[in-house]
Amino acid sequence: MPNHFDVIVVGLGAMGSAAVYHLARRGQKVLGIDRFASPHTFGSSHGQTRIIREAYFEHPTYVPIVQRAYVLWDELAREAGAELLLKTGGLMIGRPDSVVFSGARRSADTHRLPHEILNAEQVRRRFPALRPDDDMSAILEPRAGILFPERCIASHLSLAVRHGANLRTEEPVLRWHKTSEGVTIVTTRGEYHADHVVFSAGSWVTQLLPELKLPFKVERQVLFWFEPTTSPALFYPERCPIHLWQFDDRRFFYGFPELGEGVKVAAHHAGALVSPDSICREVAAEEIGAMRSVVRRFLPAADGPLRSATVCMYTNTPDEHFWIDMHPECSRAIIASPCSGHGFKFSSAIGEILSQLVTEGRTGFNLGLFRARSFT
Ligand SMILES: Cc1cc2nc3c(=O)[nH]c(=O)nc-3n(C[C@H](O)[C@H](O)[C@H](O)COP(=O)(O)OP(=O)(O)OC[C@H]3O[C@@H](n4cnc5c(N)ncnc54)[C@H](O)[C@@H]3O)c2cc1C
Repeated sequence: MPNHFDVIVVGLGAMGSAAVYHLARRGQKVLGIDRFASPHTFGSSHGQTRIIREAYFEHPTYVPIVQRAYVLWDELAREAGAELLLKTGGLMIGRPDSVVFSGARRSADTHRLPHEILNAEQVRRRFPALRPDDDMSAILEPRAGILFPERCIASHLSLAVRHGANLRTEEPVLRWHKTSEGVTIVTTRGEYHADHVVFSAGSWVTQLLPELKLPFKVERQVLFWFEPTTSPALFYPERCPIHLWQFDDRRFFYGFPELGEGVKVAAHHAGALVSPDSICREVAAEEIGAMRSVVRRFLPAADGPLRSATVCMYTNTPDEHFWIDMHPECSRAIIASPCSGHGFKFSSAIGEILSQLVTEGRTGFNLGLFRARSFT
């Protein structure tokens, strides 16, 4: 049947583009479908840069997966002939009992990762753009850096096609159902059949699977690019690693070196809960003011004019760990998307894991934290 595939991947953002690539590389007859023309600016994967880091403060379980992701990003860059990852090193900054500092230290110790521990004065001396409070400390990890998300997605997609994948864009999936042999996917343009389906629809995944009443919340997040004031060189990658901060108890923000577009910074969480179809994409003056006050406090040399800002979405689980598992009523359907604002770096490895789950029914990685789970 021409409309029958081994696997259909719904959503071709970070996770879906990697999944179609790995499935096609394994010789699967794969169809990828997206409601937009990926890469695009309506989901969770735009904005020029994403942090990759190894001393993972969220949990040591993530470390082997990100280590595999590094290998796969390198392979993809070689195959695509594109620069996808820039290593800058990374600083996880906070008070000694903060989740960011203590969690990064735990992962570094558990997995014996190379790292240095710096006090505030050492951070200020070595990285003069960054001005932590006196009672803050930092973990400096050498392998952290920057991924270029639009390029990563475009590389996965174009190479997937080279390996035989079929892609259909600007074709929203409307609904799906299981059949005796697999699944049927209904889009605005037709009907497709497959043995397996991967749902990697990001912030829209709950709409596609209403029967599951999945506990995910979509959170609006704003990215800002500020012009440096007097000394732009302080922010060049040689002198400014990526940096992620916890301050005033449970507030988080992160920033990137200057790559020619301004100094990019953003709060991590603390955004409004929204629907992906009606999210406000304008950035209000109060939002710019709130971000600027954080910049003034911790990165005063980046307090120049705002160059640009854009709106993006996190899809959060209640415990902020990923959700990668079979559909509870259909073992031929896999759900893989809600990555709670920290998933991009893993997407090359998650694509490979999804291809293993589809073709072998198992993966060597420990996905225990990411299984379907209930919250009371
Ligand atoms: C502001 C911001 C900063 C972030 N920073 C980092 C970072 O520094 N490091 C990091 O590792 N992670 C970071 N993340 C998280 C990371 O970017 C996301 O976890 C990841 O991009 C999510 O990928 P996804 O494939 O689940 O979603 P998406 O990339 O949004 O893909 C979902 C796709 O599904 C498609 N789709 C939806 N519904 C349908 C439908 N009905 N039919 C067909 N297609 C459909 C959409 O069009 C979209 O292309 C950040 C996220 C944001 C928003």
